[in-house]
Amino acid sequence: MIVYKLQCAKGHEFEEWFASGAEYDRLAKKKKIKCPECGDKTVAKALMAPNVSSVDTVKPAKPAAPCGAAACGSETCPMMNN
Ligand SMILES: [Zn+2]
Repeated sequence: MIVYKLQCAKGHEFEEWFASGAEYDRLAKKKKIKCPECGDKTVAKALMAPNVSSVDTVKPAKPAAPCGAAACGSETCPMMNN
């Protein structure tokens, strides 16, 4: 699953979950995504790195890295080797 922050043509921002990036592309092309605020179907990805969660331990509200460092999460982080 992947979450994208989306923005409609009127500037409303909202988040949507998709099975994959390709699924987003498919739905966006068919205008199947609409703004929950105004129903606008002209939506685009807002500026945010996609938050991919392959495991269920990553929650958007919490830092993904166990050591809490902002730049952490890479495989080189010593905290990841536990
Ligand atoms: Zn809207």
